[in-house]
Amino acid sequence: MSGEHFIIIGNGPAGNQAALTLRESAPDTPVTLISKDHEGSYRPNLLPKLIAGKIGEEDLYVSGVNAYKERDIKLRAGQRVAAVDLEGKKVILDHKERLGYTGLILAVGGTPRIPENMLAFQDLMATLKNLLDAKNWIKKLEKVESVLIIGGDLTSLGVTRALLQLEKKVYFMLNEEAFWPLRCDKEMLEEVANRLTGKGVEVLIDQRLKGVARVSETVCRVEIGESRLEVGIIGAFFGLHPDIRFLAGSGLRMDRGILVDPYLYTGFDGVYATGDCAQIYHPALKDYWVSIGHDNARELGKIAAMNLAGGKVKAEVGGKSIFEEEGIRVNTSWWMEF
Ligand SMILES: Cc1cc2nc3c(=O)[nH]c(=O)nc-3n(C[C@H](O)[C@H](O)[C@H](O)COP(=O)(O)OP(=O)(O)OC[C@H]3O[C@@H](n4cnc5c(N)ncnc54)[C@H](O)[C@@H]3O)c2cc1C
Repeated sequence: MSGEHFIIIGNGPAGNQAALTLRESAPDTPVTLISKDHEGSYRPNLLPKLIAGKIGEEDLYVSGVNAYKERDIKLRAGQRVAAVDLEGKKVILDHKERLGYTGLILAVGGTPRIPENMLAFQDLMATLKNLLDAKNWIKKLEKVESVLIIGGDLTSLGVTRALLQLEKKVYFMLNEEAFWPLRCDKEMLEEVANRLTGKGVEVLIDQRLKGVARVSETVCRVEIGESRLEVGIIGAFFGLHPDIRFLAGSGLRMDRGILVDPYLYTGFDGVYATGDCAQIYHPALKDYWVSIGHDNARELGKIAAMNLAGGKVKAEVGGKSIFEEEGIRVNTSWWMEF
């Protein structure tokens, strides 16, 4: 229909799949994909393999910049959305440009979370969310022999595997917050600890981080419980939380993520949220669930796009590996794969 314009914010697995699906479901409608990242769409779950040197950067990509061009999807890479005006149906970019839309898909994913009691040490901790982070890890690892992993989220297990492949010494600090928003019980912690120890990792269970001092570019002195360690890198892995602060004040309903109905609809005309940033209502559970993970994000991206193009497809809670904690349901299938 003339005058229509669909915008997707986010070029991760959910945004990428949404764009490809819209191209098929609404072939005549212009589609713009906005991403603060500078690259095409890649698989973040492969970043640990890149760090391990098992794959090259070119192996990460699902849709490079040219792939979008070929499909007539306008990619605005390296542009951050600063706000969304839902009444005026405008997306406002950092550089103040305003883009009108008739349909909008929010696929802004997550950002690494650092627990409040560790914020003081944040600047000394390395996280891993995007390609730039991975490149920083690779650079640092050229100069250091040991790494302390704090947390234990699903990403950290992939990174630990990469570090072992690079023959680095790995210390792993696990506590009940490790799989946030799940709280680990003793049994779960022991199971993870046993798996890691069996692979040569030195596991520190239930100890508190008391202090960190940077001794040099390649050495940090860390005080954990009664132990003192010297490590080259401190990696912080406490899960991802939705990257939705820029939407505060938009009128969207938000809790941990953007609240949507089972069709991923936000309640605002033509506006859907999908992937890691969405919190989805399930009528049978009478509660919202979140799914974190690559395959879920792609599936949800497809559903949001189909519904924006006029479909009526429900997002279903994924199969077996769903854990429930305090009303939040999390698909944690991937941490078991280590
Ligand atoms: C290192 C790592 C390893 C992982 N391993 C696995 C695994 O083994 N298995 C698995 O299932 N999952 C894994 N995951 C998780 C998986 O990658 C995510 O669940 C998935 O990427 C979520 O997709 P998404 O599209 O919802 O969000 P994201 O991939 O987070 O993409 C969000 C996009 O939105 C953009 N964006 C955000 N805010 C703005 C803004 N204001 N303006 C413009 N653009 C914006 C970002 O730049 C990004 O392009 C891993 C993640 C990481 C980081």
